[in-house]
Amino acid sequence: MSRPAAEARARARTFLAQTLSAEGNVLMLEHATRDEVVRRLASAGRAAPTKGSVAPGGAAAVEVTNARIAEAPDLEALAQLVASCSRCPLHAARKNAVFGEGAAEARVVCVGEAPGAREDETGRPFVGRAGRLLDRLLMSIGLPRTSVYICNVLKSRPPQNRDPLPEEVAACAPYLVRQLALIQPDVIVAFGAFAARTLLETKSALGRLRGRVHRYSGYPVIVTYHPAALLRNPGWIRPTWEDLQMVRRMLDGADESEARLG
Ligand code: SF4
Repeated sequence: MSRPAAEARARARTFLAQTLSAEGNVLMLEHATRDEVVRRLASAGRAAPTKGSVAPGGAAAVEVTNARIAEAPDLEALAQLVASCSRCPLHAARKNAVFGEGAAEARVVCVGEAPGAREDETGRPFVGRAGRLLDRLLMSIGLPRTSVYICNVLKSRPPQNRDPLPEEVAACAPYLVRQLALIQPDVIVAFGAFAARTLLETKSALGRLRGRVHRYSGYPVIVTYHPAALLRNPGWIRPTWEDLQMVRRMLDGADESEARLG
């Protein structure tokens, strides 16, 4: 057999192996690029798996429109949408979506930035050291973790914990909007600059946002440091506690100026 013919037969065997392996959603890429394999599978009527296949965590992926999110009747239904969400590329690498947890009628909603590695592993917000610190801070104003609601702006982990991208926030924000509309808290606490800037649509530094009551859709918003930042800067724990005292005073009936003055 001539050398070109032998090479052609070898390529054909490789493609056959790739095609058969793809039936089990495994692509063998030894001698062909991924694009070549996808193109060949697509031409054979078997496009690469995208939407409508299986999302991380095993939930069936379906298109989640803004209207479906806005019409979710309760937190459980909304969580199911998040579990199958592929509205932005972050769904591809996540182990678990992190919807949020807590009391459905909580008076306080705590909003952070995005899941980290531990949250991605467990599917729960604010776990690990930062989560334990948050629990202690909440207890210092008489709020057990189970009495509040805790979530993030983004529901899927950005790779290497990088800052969320504007398009990711735009895709995910409707979930937070609906969570807040369903819970209707008395006070929202924005933990960290990212959550604060997203909720308040501002670019101001966190230091300029602390110490007063802001508004998001009519709900009072108090801004303070993220617990993960407190682990790196223990000197910020005291000012964070003071911010949370404002939350306590508002829950006890103080108006905004009284809450601010203490
Ligand atoms: S970050 Fe939000 S929009 Fe993006 S995939 Fe996760 S749940 Fe969907």
